[in-house]
Amino acid sequence: MPPSDSWPSELPTCLRQREHEQRALTGAHDVLLSVDRVADWTAGVGTAEIDVPQPLAGPGIEREEGALHPPGEDQIGQGQVEMFARHEMQELVVVDGKARGIVARDLVTGETTTHLGDAVVLATGGYGNVFYLATYAKGCNTTAIWRAYKKGAAFANPCFTQIHPTCIPVSGEYQSKLTLMSESLRNDGRIWVPKTKGDQRAPNQIPKEDRDYYLERMYPSFGNLVPRDVASRAAKRVCDEGRGVGPTGYGVYLDFHDAIGRLGKAKIEEKYGNLFEMYERITGENPYEVPMRIYPATHYTMGGLWVDYNLMSTIPGLFVLGEANFSDHGANRLGASALMQGLADGYFVIPYTMGNYLAREKLAPVADTHPEVRAAEDAVAARTKRLLSAGGSRPAASFHRELGKIMWEHCGMERDKKGLEHGMGKIPGLRAEFWKNLRVPGSGAELNQSLEVAGRVADFLELGELMCLDALERDESCGCHFRTEHQMADGEAKRDDQQFCHVAAWEYAGDGKKPIRNVEPLTFENVDLQVRSYK
Ligand SMILES: Cc1cc2nc3c(=O)[nH]c(=O)nc-3n(C[C@H](O)[C@H](O)[C@H](O)COP(=O)(O)OP(=O)(O)OC[C@H]3O[C@@H](n4cnc5c(N)ncnc54)[C@H](O)[C@@H]3O)c2cc1C
Repeated sequence: MPPSDSWPSELPTCLRQREHEQRALTGAHDVLLSVDRVADWTAGVGTAEIDVPQPLAGPGIEREEGALHPPGEDQIGQGQVEMFARHEMQELVVVDGKARGIVARDLVTGETTTHLGDAVVLATGGYGNVFYLATYAKGCNTTAIWRAYKKGAAFANPCFTQIHPTCIPVSGEYQSKLTLMSESLRNDGRIWVPKTKGDQRAPNQIPKEDRDYYLERMYPSFGNLVPRDVASRAAKRVCDEGRGVGPTGYGVYLDFHDAIGRLGKAKIEEKYGNLFEMYERITGENPYEVPMRIYPATHYTMGGLWVDYNLMSTIPGLFVLGEANFSDHGANRLGASALMQGLADGYFVIPYTMGNYLAREKLAPVADTHPEVRAAEDAVAARTKRLLSAGGSRPAASFHRELGKIMWEHCGMERDKKGLEHGMGKIPGLRAEFWKNLRVPGSGAELNQSLEVAGRVADFLELGELMCLDALERDESCGCHFRTEHQMADGEAKRDDQQFCHVAAWEYAGDGKKPIRNVEPLTFENVDLQVRSYK
């Protein structure tokens, strides 16, 4: 997306000027690529006319004796890339306004290490675990992009989070994670709830005429295949009406009885056997015999660090790939877009754009004694010390669970002004309590998962507030962002293109200060903006 004229001049002015420049290097993935190697990669690029960084070997997959190897794997094998497994990036090093490295913690030994280079690539995933219960792996967090945000990278559209309609419902207070049942199940499963509130009969005892196949009723054209946000909201509404199923009342049926009758059990097993088995192992119920129970859960984040078309953030030399950035997600609608985006970013974009950036920048080496490097290391040490010395009695996970409830209730599937203000009012108090009453056992110089979790929760406690603020200021409904004040007569989302046809890119203004909302207008040249109907 090209930058807007409204982008404030005090933000790093990388955007328009760098439209034709590009990117570089290493980063914090689960695997940290050594930044030292960037110089090797780029040594062949030179500074002249080269658009494609040849030493990167391009985005292809190399075939070797019949085996397929992603290029990165080959480069690690060849010693071109150094891998740092089980390291967590905790700080970004910015020198002269450019990203020049990271400070990471070795999660096994506790040692803090600094990696300097010519640029940084973050591919650290989405931040949906801010809701505590989500379909994400438990380790997914916001720390890398939140550290970058606090160093000057704009955070775009943080309130846009995808709620997936087909997850196994929450079963109890001490649950720490939710499980996704694949989207594909909606191809053959029919979603329904009892027509009557409080109908306690077992599903197979409820005759067809007493069932409400509500998606088929409400959206005859798309039926059970309506977009995720639409299906999720509809499930929430029937449950809020008291027609939800299962022990908590927050579940709807996903029923394969008709599909089995039509296609036969063997065909259904062939298509979904692994999912059915997984469901049975978790719930103890056989979905060939009784309908699955599902409920929406947080699954994906469309917001993230702002990037230009070259995947560079507002900090020159900081590139952000995959779910960690805000770009190219196909909103919350396209089932396959997340992985496609990650692949496109990694295989097709970054190898080309990074070379341009490096070719055009004259980057002096950064000494590890540079004041900015020392400042980043000191910040990590101070933060670790603060987490360890709070001296309270409450584990970080308990704060996380409480934050998740606030976020789910006030900034989840449906939002309104009152609820968002309420949520925003609660988070600072919870954050203060966290720093006062946190308990992290052990030390920093060892494997310490409580410390890891505490650091991530501290960041979630800040991010959550920004998400609420973003949702509050976007005073319209738009896809997954559903403000109850803004709906059509039939309950569908009502956009306000006059006021909000833009990306909101938040700029950190300092601790305790309201972040600055920058606006990047969305312009559509080849298609007209329309309101979709799934009826
Ligand atoms: C259950 C489930 C099913 C899905 N199904 C589909 C699907 O069918 N189709 C689809 O397109 N998408 C799907 N998605 C979404 C898709 O998997 C993700 O969007 C995608 O994997 C994101 O890729 P990524 O590389 O950007 O981030 P991730 O795959 O999340 O990888 C980020 C990595 O960075 C590491 N990391 C995080 N913070 C740090 C740090 N500070 N320092 C070092 N390392 C860090 C993490 O540990 C992780 O290894 C699904 C997601 C889930 C959870």
